[in-house]
Amino acid sequence: MLKIENLSASYQTIDGDVHVIKDLDFEIKDNEIFGIAGESGCGKTTLLKTLYDIVEFPLVIDQGRVVLSGEKNGQSFSFSSGEIRKTWWNNISYVPQAAQSVLNPIMRLKKQFLDSIPAEDKKNETEEQTLARVAKYLEDLSLSPDVLESYPFQLSGGMRQRVIIALATFMSPNVVLADEPTTALDVVVQRGILMMLMRLQKQFKNTLVIVSHDMGVHYQITDRMAIMYSGSIIELGETEGIFSDPVHPYTQMLVGSLPRVGDKSQKVGIPGRPPALKNPPPGCRFAPRCPHATDRCRSEVPVFREVKPGRFAACHLLNEEVGK
Ligand code: SF4
Repeated sequence: MLKIENLSASYQTIDGDVHVIKDLDFEIKDNEIFGIAGESGCGKTTLLKTLYDIVEFPLVIDQGRVVLSGEKNGQSFSFSSGEIRKTWWNNISYVPQAAQSVLNPIMRLKKQFLDSIPAEDKKNETEEQTLARVAKYLEDLSLSPDVLESYPFQLSGGMRQRVIIALATFMSPNVVLADEPTTALDVVVQRGILMMLMRLQKQFKNTLVIVSHDMGVHYQITDRMAIMYSGSIIELGETEGIFSDPVHPYTQMLVGSLPRVGDKSQKVGIPGRPPALKNPPPGCRFAPRCPHATDRCRSEVPVFREVKPGRFAACHLLNEEVGK
């Protein structure tokens, strides 16, 4: 399980701090596919970095923490922000946005696999035996073990992404984080990558967290999802419910703008632009674009709370409906 407790983080710049994520408080459960959606610049990649504990200058955590806990091989574990990196690959792994940037271009893939496997896991075997295990794993994923002899640049974008996913899941970590795993791939390859991620999640019964701006990705594979806007989560719940009955005005406009099979009506985007994170408006950050905004919205930040069973949202209208 990943618990995000009252988390805020910012980038320190010479022009001042830019608060990129603010007061996030939610849980990602064991054995679920959890999606994080939102327009670019809303803070979703920064959130993923804090989950994976890649918090390096200029990014700093202002308050709160992330707690990764669970059980593996009969042993329970718990790591919080600052400690999570000790358990990279073993309990948590990361599939970054640009797959080619994490692979060393001048190193054969077999060496990159060997380097990523913790010493503890390979202490009783020779290098050949470890590589045989890797080759078997690749075969199980319908990948040719021949790729181990390749350099990254010799593979197509889709194949590189599959290899990264294989690398990230080889140790069967409890949590796998994937940042825009299908971006820049053609539709057929995208589908193959999503199927591979789903199959692995089912096989290991672990937690898969997917960040994507593409609502279609969330619709296809996530169980629950969070919608981010300007550094905050404004709605969270079961994916099916978010698409069939969105409650937050932003989510309603976002879902309403999506094309649907058989629907020939003219689709319009959400008017206006997200606010600059360096100087956001007071109160609800969506107020300048919201058709329901009131004076209260423009001065008071709405609280993120459960508005119906399993559904959380941050909106004064909804909070008034539930009598809070
Ligand atoms: Fe709109 Fe007000 Fe709700 Fe913000 S709090 S989404 S401005 S109704």
